[in-house]
Amino acid sequence: MKEIAKGKLLIISGPSGVGKSTILKEIFARRKNLYFSVSATTRPPREGETDGVHYHFLSVEKFQEWIADHNFLEYAEYVGDFYGTPKKYAYEAMDAGRDVILDIEIQGAEQVKKSCPEAVSVFIAPPDWNELKRRLSERGTDSPEKIQKRLLRAKVEFQSAGMYDYLLINDDLKESVKKLDAIITAEHCRTKELLKYDLIREMDEL
Ligand code: ADP
Ligand code: 5GP
Repeated sequence: MKEIAKGKLLIISGPSGVGKSTILKEIFARRKNLYFSVSATTRPPREGETDGVHYHFLSVEKFQEWIADHNFLEYAEYVGDFYGTPKKYAYEAMDAGRDVILDIEIQGAEQVKKSCPEAVSVFIAPPDWNELKRRLSERGTDSPEKIQKRLLRAKVEFQSAGMYDYLLINDDLKESVKKLDAIITAEHCRTKELLKYDLIREMDEL
């Protein structure tokens, strides 16, 4: 069967420090057909972050220009900074048959689900709150004030977990990677995937 290529849109959300980037790094090493959507943000780069690779780091003015130019698939404010998904590259990658991964917070996830209901969403939760606090502190990238704000936000985010298609408790990293890998595989096995195959045309050729 010939496949009419169109990649999936996968939304990954979860509180800051829960392990989204860590899980995604492993998933990218396992699966070859993925595209990571590089977001734009007004937050300053962390040590080791590169412009255009981890984020497009923009001034608030530039971010507002991008909003005015309708460059975003979604955007939101999170703990004092703006974050948004550039539309163009995500659509190009999907059209090229690649599964596009969006690492975005809950307000953005809700916007994407509205405009692309076929998007698959996964909420990643911590095994408990103390562990989340420990991971955020040990990562060493945020000030104690920022950590406090992110933890407060985490409680609000957790209340939205029910709107996601899947829930993944990130306790053991290896297990989490296996589960996310399985979710992506399962989504490619849905019966609606039949639409991707040019069966009718091929039947005519029989
Ligand atoms: P996020 O992208 O969700 O903000 P990170 O991927 O940066 O979170 O992870 C935050 C910290 O937690 C990192 O130091 C990472 O090594 C650690 N971490 C991630 N997953 C696990 C896990 N399953 N068990 C223990 N530590 C983890
Ligand atoms: P961080 O500052 O830790 O990189 O990200 C903070 C939060 O912003 C995380 O929850 C992350 O998923 C979210 N985020 C990153 N990029 C985007 C984006 O393009 N849109 C939205 N809505 N959230 C984003």
